[in-house]
Amino acid sequence: MEGESTSEKCTSDVEGYTSNPEMENFVDQEFMKEMEESQNKEYNGMSESNNSYNNNDHTTEDRHANPAALMRRASEPAVLNGLPEPLIQAGWGLFWSQRENRHYFFNSLTNQSSWEMPKLPTSGVVPRSPTGAAPFDDPLGLHSSTSSENESRKEISLKRRRSCEPWTEASRKVSRIEIFWDFDIKTDVVVMESAPCNMPPPTPESERYRATLINQLRQHYQDMCHSREGIDAPHESFNRWILERKVSDRGCDPILPTDCPNEVSPAMYREIMHDIPIRLSRIKYLSDARKQLFCYAEAAKKMIETRNTTAESRKQVKWQTEETFSWLRKEQNALLEDYLDRLSHLRRQCGPHLAQTAKSSVESICAKMYHMAREYSKKIYDKATATLREHRIDIPPQPKPTANLVPGAPCAMITPSPPLSGVTQDIDKTHVNLTYKNELLRINKRFMEKLESLYRYGCHDDPTLTNFLPRVWCLLRRYQTIFGPNQYEGVVLQGALPVPVFKCLNEVFGVTMECFASPLNCYFKHYCSASVDTDAYFGSSGPILQFFPVSGSFEANAPFAEELMEAMVDHFERLLAQSDKPLSFIVFVPEWRDPTPVATLHMENSKFKRKQVLIPAFEHEYRSGLQHIAPESEVYHKSVHGTLLFFLQNDAGFEKWGPTPARLRELLNAFQPKSRSCTEKTSPTNHSP
Ligand code: SAH
Repeated sequence: MEGESTSEKCTSDVEGYTSNPEMENFVDQEFMKEMEESQNKEYNGMSESNNSYNNNDHTTEDRHANPAALMRRASEPAVLNGLPEPLIQAGWGLFWSQRENRHYFFNSLTNQSSWEMPKLPTSGVVPRSPTGAAPFDDPLGLHSSTSSENESRKEISLKRRRSCEPWTEASRKVSRIEIFWDFDIKTDVVVMESAPCNMPPPTPESERYRATLINQLRQHYQDMCHSREGIDAPHESFNRWILERKVSDRGCDPILPTDCPNEVSPAMYREIMHDIPIRLSRIKYLSDARKQLFCYAEAAKKMIETRNTTAESRKQVKWQTEETFSWLRKEQNALLEDYLDRLSHLRRQCGPHLAQTAKSSVESICAKMYHMAREYSKKIYDKATATLREHRIDIPPQPKPTANLVPGAPCAMITPSPPLSGVTQDIDKTHVNLTYKNELLRINKRFMEKLESLYRYGCHDDPTLTNFLPRVWCLLRRYQTIFGPNQYEGVVLQGALPVPVFKCLNEVFGVTMECFASPLNCYFKHYCSASVDTDAYFGSSGPILQFFPVSGSFEANAPFAEELMEAMVDHFERLLAQSDKPLSFIVFVPEWRDPTPVATLHMENSKFKRKQVLIPAFEHEYRSGLQHIAPESEVYHKSVHGTLLFFLQNDAGFEKWGPTPARLRELLNAFQPKSRSCTEKTSPTNHSP
């Protein structure tokens, strides 16, 4: 997950303001040595051994990779241009089989393959989809055309069968459109069968109600922080609260915590405390440092004078702050470093007293938030079940998970949907606008097409795609509700790895599934996501902590929420310990230090760790969490923090997908920012304390 928590930590946290020299060039030394050795071999003119090394490498990969990946890999140099256009439009390509040493035909839309040239499709007939669903009945209204458009309509309907192809003629002219997903990749993941989901299926009305209540809850949070602690609610702390609460929640609400063992969220508590008595912001200039030192001292003094606390705390804070004021008066020409030192000192001295003073009040904010969440969740549930009752739909009992081993698949929703209606769409040049009761949600056309492909694959109760638009509306509404109503909020909690990295993970490390994703940011059609009830229709297997694979190769780029990252590592370690089948998790975390998060420490010392590599800050990119709305040119952003990669693998996983120097070299190459017309922007700053 993308974000700049490191930088924010370092700059907003004054102690960490100066860079940490220990961490500079923190690249796995062992790995660098291996890389150097292997490069030296090449540079020594060993072109032959280089060739044979490549060949070997292919054989190893081929033995382990899934067939779809093999087809693509084999195809790259061998696709011929001589296929008739209608066949190409119908999804057929010509590929080279290394095993059989001859050409074959493969249809990337239907997954059919053939040694013989397929018959030309009848013009305008859309082949059945891989799921066997009926052809898409134009839920987007692209073809609701006047008859004069019939010709182009035919062409569009043929074109649209390529899952990743852009829709419009205009976009077709752009030669280098990057494809942000690859749904031709099949998965070989095997999992312990999880229970299907009996939650009430989302409806636009219930989603709208959920959004209203959750926005109210956000507002209560802001109001409580303001009135009780004199601060604004820490930035995005509500979002991280939801992520953290879900780690221990045993309740049935898809977002809100309702059944946690502890009503005080450690994440929320920590983040509020961090901003008491004031939130320190990024210090760039001497004047910032002077001002913040003064403001901190003033706020600490005021707090200790006006709130209940011990005599000792009052004495200590008073003494420290007065000492600061007199230093400020005396030292008119102090340097930036002097101010920073002074501020660190003041925080160290006053922090524990202020925390003690604010403890019960901050705990009560956390507890209040939890109890309000329970109450709101009940209201949302009651509203959803009332709608179901109106349509005589009963919620079936929640089945228990079985211990059966089954292929990884989308989670099944077993409560039937009431009729869904009321969502209208309007398509402009770049976006599809979906409206329900005056509430308009936007998504760019290519991503709408992406959702269509996922829906065809993941949804089993709607072969005519009648509910497609309302379910897309619910999905967009849900993600906006989870990650916040303000522009750019939640962006850093949903940033995605670059496409070449995913491609490499698949081709080189056999990865076929993402552990943390959404229908909007997934690269594979197999993925886990936070909101099972909205996402299952689009192929989600549900939250990662309720997903129990025994074999397969996974990518994990968690949102930057520390407790969730910790729970992820524990989960992966348990899974790795339990399975003797090949199992591998390639985990990406921000390089936060000072302090190093528990999850990172845990992985650094894990017995399943096969390799740890750092991709330095500014030398790689992430895709924006708003990629489904943003213009193509604004999708990629340079990362201002380093990213640490961990290979957690059991023995069989290591044997099959181990991080050899050659494979790692490919992966590091894939991280190199490409010379795309990407903005040079850095991604917005995360505000993790
Ligand atoms: N799939 C992309 C982007 C990951 S961003 C990649 O791997 O690079 C992190 C994603 O994790 C977000 O979309 C967020 O909604 C999702 N997420 C949050 N909690 C989750 C959970 N418990 N299980 C699975 N996904 C989760």
